[in-house]
Amino acid sequence: MPKKSKKAKKSLSMERKNGYFCVSPAEKVKINEYAEEYMKFLDNSKTERMAHDESVRFLKTAGFKEISSYKNKKLKPGDKIYISCAGKTLLAVVMGKKPLENGMHIVGAHTDAPRIDIKQNPLYENGEIAFLDTHYYGGIKKYQWVARPLALCGVVVKKNGEKINIDIGNGGKDPIFCITDLLPHLAQSQMTKNASKIIEGENLDIVFGSIPSSKKQKESIKSNILQLLNERYGIKEEDFLSAELEMVPAEKARHAGIDSSMILAYGQDDRICAFAGLKAMLSLNPIPEYSACLLLCDKEEIGSVGATGMASNFFENTISEIINLSGSPYNELLLKRTLKNSWMLSADVNALFDPLYANVSDKKNTPLINGGICVTKFTGSRGKSHANDANAEFMAHIRRIFDRAKVIWQTGELGKVDEGGGGTIAYLMARYGMEVIDSGPGILSMHAPCELSGKLDAYMSYKAYLAFYRDKRV
Ligand code: MN
Ligand code: MN
Repeated sequence: MPKKSKKAKKSLSMERKNGYFCVSPAEKVKINEYAEEYMKFLDNSKTERMAHDESVRFLKTAGFKEISSYKNKKLKPGDKIYISCAGKTLLAVVMGKKPLENGMHIVGAHTDAPRIDIKQNPLYENGEIAFLDTHYYGGIKKYQWVARPLALCGVVVKKNGEKINIDIGNGGKDPIFCITDLLPHLAQSQMTKNASKIIEGENLDIVFGSIPSSKKQKESIKSNILQLLNERYGIKEEDFLSAELEMVPAEKARHAGIDSSMILAYGQDDRICAFAGLKAMLSLNPIPEYSACLLLCDKEEIGSVGATGMASNFFENTISEIINLSGSPYNELLLKRTLKNSWMLSADVNALFDPLYANVSDKKNTPLINGGICVTKFTGSRGKSHANDANAEFMAHIRRIFDRAKVIWQTGELGKVDEGGGGTIAYLMARYGMEVIDSGPGILSMHAPCELSGKLDAYMSYKAYLAFYRDKRV
């Protein structure tokens, strides 16, 4: 090939490069600093409630005010507010220069993650062991959750309304918990079952204790535990009825790989995006052109249902309140225009290409580790069923925004055609007529107790969200 046409071909074709060839030494330092902060966030955010509280701490430190403090004041450009929904879902806004009617720039992630919930009547004793009975939450491979250290987190709300926070197993000296598995010696018939049956859902019970009480009585181990819970937390057995307790992996986030280029941790789907969005929100200075909105929502893993999920009216109700505080008297048309004119990044993870399971993906349309944040035009399954298929016009804006800010990014689908599929909150937000596209880093071992992410991809997600918040649509 003559020299000239070789060059011409190069400029016409698209090349996928490892992000580490594209970042400066200074940016590499930033990637690692960001990873340290993100890992701390993960350690303090093992449940949706903990992620909510940790995010509120960050927001308050950065000068964000709870919306109720604006009762007799009007919101003006630069004002920073947050609104909580049941201590689980959280919305924060930095008021932009333009009126809300022109639309907001929204980054929406979720903070719930697959886990094992404690049943309402959980405590029982059998074979000299006390157990907690459970009901798992979200899409898990049940066999991954046995014989590994688990922590117990959540709240017990007593009949008088007193709320007791429980967090056992995340601290260094705390005891931890586990679910037992069958020894291989006696697993002959277990090992012939298919993977979804090897561990039955009803068998995911937590070993909770084993010392009997000193008094001679029935269910002596259970009694001893109730005594202990009463001494430590002031609760009785019936208080489990109004509790939300979750078993989550007890390990802290760890650097992974000999080059420490990755992070192995629980709940990175989708706290990797939640933290990136939060950090972007906190970095917003000067005042953005369009109001910036961060949404950290609950219940995504079970279909976004319930009062704290994105299928509820929480989002539009909250935006109504904000419109009402922002000058012009509230009317429904104003709300509808605000929503329709908004742009949104549905900030959720995708699945990275895994060479050990290469057959489930189309490699050229699958995100690679260290390829940067992944933009997913559509999700869904089979013939794009239930997908939010983003408009090409909006995709073009995203290309402009990310390229201008030197974000390292790639595109990808979730798996090859007809292999399965999944969804995010994108389609729920698209109902309002706003432009929505999925974008978040890819991860490996998604929904496993420990998920693996690339530090460069985590950092690029933050950089992408920040560029999106700052964009002036020109
Ligand atoms: Mn997710
Ligand atoms: Mn998920």
